[in-house]
Amino acid sequence: MCGHEVVVVGSGVLGMAIAVAAADAGLRVALVGPGYGTRGAASPAAAAMLGVVGEHTLADQDRTDLVFRHESALLWPGRIEAITAHTGIGVPFSQGTVIIANLNHPADRNNLEAMRRAAEALGLPVEDLDPRQVPGLRPAPRHAPVAALACPDEGWVDAQALLVALDTACRRHPGVERIPGTARSVLVSAGAPAATGVALHDDTHVVSDRVVLAAGAATGTLLGRSPPSPGRYQRCWQPRESAS
Ligand SMILES: Cc1cc2nc3c(=O)[nH]c(=O)nc-3n(C[C@H](O)[C@H](O)[C@H](O)COP(=O)(O)OP(=O)(O)OC[C@H]3O[C@@H](n4cnc5c(N)ncnc54)[C@H](O)[C@@H]3O)c2cc1C
Repeated sequence: MCGHEVVVVGSGVLGMAIAVAAADAGLRVALVGPGYGTRGAASPAAAAMLGVVGEHTLADQDRTDLVFRHESALLWPGRIEAITAHTGIGVPFSQGTVIIANLNHPADRNNLEAMRRAAEALGLPVEDLDPRQVPGLRPAPRHAPVAALACPDEGWVDAQALLVALDTACRRHPGVERIPGTARSVLVSAGAPAATGVALHDDTHVVSDRVVLAAGAATGTLLGRSPPSPGRYQRCWQPRESAS
């Protein structure tokens, strides 16, 4: 396949999910990357993935990320259904998590309070829980639980199953071409309003006027090697409105 309409760099959970969604929308996608299980990739280490309230801390005064996570989590059931439709591979996901404050981290209690307020702002239920009631919790003594918050609407997904399903969907989708190399830099022509593709380490150029960088921790390095002029790249998401 050539004549790509979008190049996605990185085949972690983000890159693969974007590739499948773009191909579902009818775009011809080039997915550049060595695969999700490579050294240094974050996705295989993730646990719950769909945390909204549980990722909130006292330091997060700006609610932008909170609203982003909430809106994203609401989209997950539909996306998982779409991924499963491509592969037939089930991806376990459900709701209900418990956040535990422990003795060794004095800030934990304050962060539980921040989570409670975040849940209130989003209209999500949370309730205090006696940590002794949490099934299977057997921490080391210095990590003894001091408080716990049950979040019945907080989602979780089996990250490993999701990666397998996304990888399979990308391999099977007629709209996605896997390119196993790694990107060395973003191509930007003088005078062009945006990136024009990426150069791989073997000097192959994968061209498209839409480039998505989803290379995890390496994304900053890719931008740093070929810094586009201001206005030539953008964040993928803007908040619709701030939470009150
Ligand atoms: C220990 C740990 C626990 C976590 N727990 C959770 C959790 O419970 N819940 C949660 O929501 N999040 C969790 N996270 C965060 C979550 O894992 C990441 O936010 C998410 O996986 C990022 O996905 P990604 O696709 O952006 O990055 P990655 O999974 O890192 O994927 C990036 C991909 O890009 C590839 N790549 C790099 N450079 C290039 C290049 N030049 N060209 C082409 N490809 C390239 C890499 O090989 C990699 O496959 C955790 C992270 C860690 C490290």
